[in-house]
Amino acid sequence: MPHFYFDTETNGHKSFELPGAKPHYNPDRPGQVKHIFLDLALDIPNQSFSGTCTIALEAIRNDTHQLTLDAVNLNIQSVQVEETPQPFDYDGEQLHIHLTNPTEAGKEIKIAIAYSVEKPQRGLYFIVPNEHYPNKPTQVWTQGEDEDSRFWFPCFDYPGQLATSEIRVKVPKPLIAISNGELIATEEDGEDKIYHWLQQQVHPTYLMTLAVGDFAEIRDEWRGKPVTYYVEKGYEEDARRSMGKTPRMMEFFSDKFGYPYPFPKYAQVCVDDFIFGGMENTSTTLLTDRCLLDERAAIDNDRTESLVAHELAHQWFGDLVVIKHWSHAWIKEGLASYSEVFWTDYEYGNDDAAYYLLGEAQSYVAEDSSRYRRPIVTHVYREAIELYDRHLYEKGACVYHMIRTELGDELFWKAIQTFVQDNAHNTVETVDLLRAIEKATGRNLLFLFDQYVFRGGHPDYKVAYSWDGDSQLAKVTVTQTQAKNDNNGSNSELFDLKIPIAFGYTQPESEGGATHVSPLLKTFTVRIHEREQSFYFPLEKKPQFISFDRGNNYLKTVALEYPISELKAQLQSDPDPISRIYAAKALAKKGGLESVKALAETLTSDSFWGVRVEAAKCLAQVKLDQATDALIAGLNDKDARVRRSVVQALSKIKTSQSYDALKQVLENGDASYYVEATAASALGKMVSATLKDKEDEVLQLLNNVLRERGGWNEVVRSGAIAGLSQMKSSPVALEVILEYTTPGTPQPLRLTAIRALGTISTGQTPNNTEWILEQLEELAGETFFLTQVAVVAALGQMETVKAIAVLHSLAEQTPDGRVRRMAEEAIQRVQKNVGSDQAVKQLREELDQLKKENQELKSRMENLEAKSKSAN
Ligand SMILES: [Zn+2]
Repeated sequence: MPHFYFDTETNGHKSFELPGAKPHYNPDRPGQVKHIFLDLALDIPNQSFSGTCTIALEAIRNDTHQLTLDAVNLNIQSVQVEETPQPFDYDGEQLHIHLTNPTEAGKEIKIAIAYSVEKPQRGLYFIVPNEHYPNKPTQVWTQGEDEDSRFWFPCFDYPGQLATSEIRVKVPKPLIAISNGELIATEEDGEDKIYHWLQQQVHPTYLMTLAVGDFAEIRDEWRGKPVTYYVEKGYEEDARRSMGKTPRMMEFFSDKFGYPYPFPKYAQVCVDDFIFGGMENTSTTLLTDRCLLDERAAIDNDRTESLVAHELAHQWFGDLVVIKHWSHAWIKEGLASYSEVFWTDYEYGNDDAAYYLLGEAQSYVAEDSSRYRRPIVTHVYREAIELYDRHLYEKGACVYHMIRTELGDELFWKAIQTFVQDNAHNTVETVDLLRAIEKATGRNLLFLFDQYVFRGGHPDYKVAYSWDGDSQLAKVTVTQTQAKNDNNGSNSELFDLKIPIAFGYTQPESEGGATHVSPLLKTFTVRIHEREQSFYFPLEKKPQFISFDRGNNYLKTVALEYPISELKAQLQSDPDPISRIYAAKALAKKGGLESVKALAETLTSDSFWGVRVEAAKCLAQVKLDQATDALIAGLNDKDARVRRSVVQALSKIKTSQSYDALKQVLENGDASYYVEATAASALGKMVSATLKDKEDEVLQLLNNVLRERGGWNEVVRSGAIAGLSQMKSSPVALEVILEYTTPGTPQPLRLTAIRALGTISTGQTPNNTEWILEQLEELAGETFFLTQVAVVAALGQMETVKAIAVLHSLAEQTPDGRVRRMAEEAIQRVQKNVGSDQAVKQLREELDQLKKENQELKSRMENLEAKSKSAN
């Protein structure tokens, strides 16, 4: 019953499959495409182009009379085979060619399709200056993945068909055109110039690309091959800063993957208004120009370096070894995301890599718990683009890491190299990875794939520990809390894994006490496969701490139920930063002054910044005033990422002391854009709850930021808008936000302001809410992808049924599958929101006040207790 689908939840998880989802298969193949040649002329003022697409096809069997190509909204002028016109019919989505001579098996035919396109909706994008943005550069770029190449040329548009390709394109001077492969010729043609590119290695249609603009060209090289960065003129320094590690990465990946970079050149083109972060077109990656870092952004932005590594890794995983069907896209996206981890490892060390992987795991877990749960490999969907989620990327990366854990480093790389070498210039499915692993290592990892790839979920472990001093036994009880509590022995939600459990003994400090000696770890590996299991480990003496899943290699969540002293010892001494983070979280859950002290100590002295980031988060969670002093000290951390986390944490402790500290951060400024932005948004949040008397002051502060702190990607000003959006009952804040939604506002700032309309709407008067809705309805008419995403995000936060109607019409009208899906999920959210009426809101505010009083009381009691203890 379709209209009930919003309530369809399995095991508390929403369903991935929306109504209309169905199995998807690759089509039958009439033949093998050998070569695709596009000969095009761009007419930029009219946002159109025309030319010929010639497809060389080798027939697989005799007597095929009809060929069906994907071709959306093209004007098809003629179809010829070897210069003989062919009858065809075209319905705007598929081109059916009725061959005058049926095919002969093994024989190649050349199909030439003359066509033109006006204002393409997708596939190929014209970026031009307009009245609101007169300084916008003129650019043309393409985006084929997943099934959008058919919007700019007729083709068999699925990844199972690999062919060589060639693009010859006429563009007005001084624009230059960049495409796949090698530039084999250029030709002057009056006011125009023709660029002729040839890609001699086979690849799928979704990786064919074209990027046109008046770019600065920065040349680098790797083993004699050109490595080129194209950016808008004036950004040459940022280009080097952001992409300059590319040749070293090419060396690193060539070595690790056991296959030298396979294409004749590597170009990265930074384009305006790009709708993804990056796209790994064969030998020609396109990147959003927002990834270009200025000097200040480079202090604490690691996303650009990861993006560069990710897209480069795709040149092997995705472009050299191609997925046969979208359902197996995790093979390439998981590996590219995991490549971010091993580049981090190589460049910044183990701790950074482990923390990066934890971040990926958490981002998947968040999607799993709040959005839906699905198997990584599934061919049941509405549109392939729906698969490009946190399961595909981040969970995929975690699966590759578990494969590495199971095999060990040496065999892992042997398996990866076997997989690449055996499948180069070919298509693969998930089973091919399993086969390569088995071929290279003898190991059959189907059990791992069954649990983590072919079904949804992950284990949620609860781990309890106690020590029996009489019998010298450590007792560890592990519960898989994700599984239902019915002991019929066949629970399909249970995981069956061998997990190492280590007992740690801190070493006495060496003479003089200065040097830090790493603790001894005694490790046992146990099979955990039941809902609840208790293990007894005979030990010579009582361990100081317990390290569950030593190395933290398995994708899981874990709740540690250890005594406080063991948690403290682990936080101080476990050599694995991820274990220290789990200990910090468990301590925060326990609360109390002792935990605060331990966490404060970690925040000031842990050697790894990632642990300090997490310690700050944990301190905020304890909700004791004593945490404030520790956090304020943390504002001086030398690492901007820690300062950012501290600012965030302080904003959750809504006292005038933390308010003053944050106000100072914003007024004095910080070396990092992100720290300033976080402070700005935090201040707005603080005054919305208990510090109402500061509202005017914060309005003033945020207005100053908006006037004075424009700059890189509008990060700081966006922080101010986010802060304003939290001042929900303020009509003044709403007015300021609205001002920044007008066209002409720098794009990133405008998008933040549009989202902010939704956030602030929930506290406004009915009249104002109505007004916001009207604004959003008007903005929904803009076709730019990122604007639509912002509008959907805004509407999804509203608490009025009227938002649902706007979302419905957006879902129906958008040409983008991602927007459509987001709009439908937003409708579910609004339906939930509508339930929370005014009375509930008031209760929430009263509760906030009570919590605050309770916190003060608890803090005072902890102090008294501490005093009485020290008096004893
Ligand atoms: Zn990717």
